[in-house]
Amino acid sequence: MSSANFDSLLSATTATLERIANEFTPAVFASSLAAEDMVLTDLILRNKLAIAIFSLETGRLHAETLGMLDRIKETYGSEIALFKPEAAAVENYVASNGLNAFYDSVEMRKECCRIRKIEPLNRALAGNKAWVTGQRRAQSTTRTELNVQEDDAAHDMQKFNPLADWSEEDVWHYIRSNNVPYNPLHDKGYPSIGCEPCTRAIQPGEDVRAGRWWWENPESKECGLHVVDGKLIRIKSVAN
Ligand code: SF4
Repeated sequence: MSSANFDSLLSATTATLERIANEFTPAVFASSLAAEDMVLTDLILRNKLAIAIFSLETGRLHAETLGMLDRIKETYGSEIALFKPEAAAVENYVASNGLNAFYDSVEMRKECCRIRKIEPLNRALAGNKAWVTGQRRAQSTTRTELNVQEDDAAHDMQKFNPLADWSEEDVWHYIRSNNVPYNPLHDKGYPSIGCEPCTRAIQPGEDVRAGRWWWENPESKECGLHVVDGKLIRIKSVAN
């Protein structure tokens, strides 16, 4: 993409974020602390936009991912709100099934994701008019219809994907150009980063999602945060 086209893309994305902040109060951004989400974090915090940022602290994240919280505070002087699973639900799951029961079956894995991700996400979104994600159209072969703005009927609010039109190169161009902090795992073969026991590095040529829940059939690889008509979200790495 030429620099003129990138500048145009960036202007449109900034305008979208400004519109969310001004017209959908209160609005929240669900950050996984991954590369795309650091672009949005940078745009929101540098422009002092009224969009609250939160992250789901599942209790099973990599140390490198948790380290991003300190790096954000050092860089921007802002703290990211953390939403954690209900302690009793986690304790019951672990006591009944074991700490790593998600390896045993898809049902056990989805129940762990429900407790550690879905319930906290729903709590974080409650009471807001809109939420923001770092999803991109180019990440998905089944989401060619991903729009910048969507009606999220399940949460009864608007859902914005301001980076819908961005490529992987655009993301890294922004990060390098603006010295945005990013998760060091991205430099170690982790294009997609989730919980530590459920994420591994991938080899060149592998699907970006190959490192997520790698022991399962591809058809079941969905945590439930971004279900689209019940279809699996597939991601291809531009770098590969
Ligand atoms: S990604 Fe793994 S550890 Fe994290 S909530 Fe889902 S099953 Fe549990």
